[in-house]
Amino acid sequence: MSELETKRHTSASERLFEQAGQSLVGGVGSGTRSPRSGWLPVPVFVAEGSGARLTDVDGNVYIDYAMGLGPLILGHRPRALIDAVSGVLHERGSLFALAHDLEGEAAAIVRRRVPSMELLRFGNSGTECVQYALRFARAFTGREKILRFEGHYHGWSDAIHWSAHPTLEAAGPRDHPTAVPGSTGIPAAIADTLIVAPWNDVELLEQVFERHGDEIAAVITEPILGNAGGIMPQSGYLERMRELATASGALLIFDEVLTGLRVDGGGAQRLLGVTPDLTVLAKALGAGFPVAAVGGRRDVMEMLADGRTMHGGTYNSSPLVCAAVIAACAETGKPGFYDGLNARGEQLANGLVETAAACGLEACWSGVGALFQLWFAGAPPHDYREAVELASRSPFPTFYAELLERGVLIQPPQIGLFLTSGAHSDEDIEETLERARAAMPAVAEAVAAGRVGPTGGVR
Ligand code: PMP
Repeated sequence: MSELETKRHTSASERLFEQAGQSLVGGVGSGTRSPRSGWLPVPVFVAEGSGARLTDVDGNVYIDYAMGLGPLILGHRPRALIDAVSGVLHERGSLFALAHDLEGEAAAIVRRRVPSMELLRFGNSGTECVQYALRFARAFTGREKILRFEGHYHGWSDAIHWSAHPTLEAAGPRDHPTAVPGSTGIPAAIADTLIVAPWNDVELLEQVFERHGDEIAAVITEPILGNAGGIMPQSGYLERMRELATASGALLIFDEVLTGLRVDGGGAQRLLGVTPDLTVLAKALGAGFPVAAVGGRRDVMEMLADGRTMHGGTYNSSPLVCAAVIAACAETGKPGFYDGLNARGEQLANGLVETAAACGLEACWSGVGALFQLWFAGAPPHDYREAVELASRSPFPTFYAELLERGVLIQPPQIGLFLTSGAHSDEDIEETLERARAAMPAVAEAVAAGRVGPTGGVR
């Protein structure tokens, strides 16, 4: 047996999972980490991370492409960040819930990076800052309805966690989708405040604005659809969305929680050349520390100043997270950071497609180097419904499991992502491809045997 075929050990992870389950619901801290989300047979219990590598409690070492679901843009434990944050902790404190100099400094840095955020505030999570963006848009326009798209995830709040990942049966007709709550416990009445549409379809978008234009407070979109496998907007689609929003007096909100400071130093809005009214950042903003931001047009954000539009939070812009933002932006702001990040990601994505082809499998990828997905198909999907359809015929679960066995950690679902970081070197990419070459024959076997679909029949 070669080193690449060595089976990984899981006994310590199994023991910890069992113990955790006695007090922690389901044995995990978030539903996305549970076996139900594909982490089979047990979730990976991490011992430590370093650069692009993770070591689990069983001593297995992985090249990590889950990257904390996106925040770890500099990899695990980046020296500059850890030094900056621990310096602030030792010398100043973790939290004052009072004004301090690092807040304005961090805000100015973010504003220089993302100039459409003329004024901004910090918060603690993507969910929270999306919720604020919706409130600000409603306050500014005096309207209530929010237009959102299938397959986009904007956090778990009651207000917007609808039709993120519905079953196709529940989703209703494509030209008139049903608003599907993403959880029990969400009041049904909220459906009246939402309009749901498929993404990447200009005609349907125009129809929605024709029918409801004067009721829409905001249209919210991920500018690159990270939460359905890194789907790119069709040429002209976001531009048309911008025009329709402006013409109808609705605000355009870009949820750049995943894409912001990841796909480009100025976010997807700079990469794609479309400017929203409001932007939400999180994840890469703090490179692993819990910080998010919401900001945008001065005339909208200024409403917060007199308190009528409420924004608050004990933990907002603590010295701890401001130090993280400042240090993370200094690192990602170095010349060539994003070019290198995207180039190495593309090298991996192209290499995976070639690896699949060498085993007789049709494959392609979607997204950009810093955030992409491999599809076992001739062309990537255009929207969530197509992504689900492709996933139903995909050997992705086998691909995930075989990579994991060989020390490459990716998100289990086909509608997940490969997330790269500044810590992934050319050697890491080469090593990943070597491991993928060892894994791919089993994927081809799964396809030949019909072991495909969201659960893929593995294990
Ligand atoms: N928006 C997008 C686009 C996201 O990807 C996520 C998280 N995956 C969220 C919002 C929610 O962010 P958080 O988990 O920080 O609440």
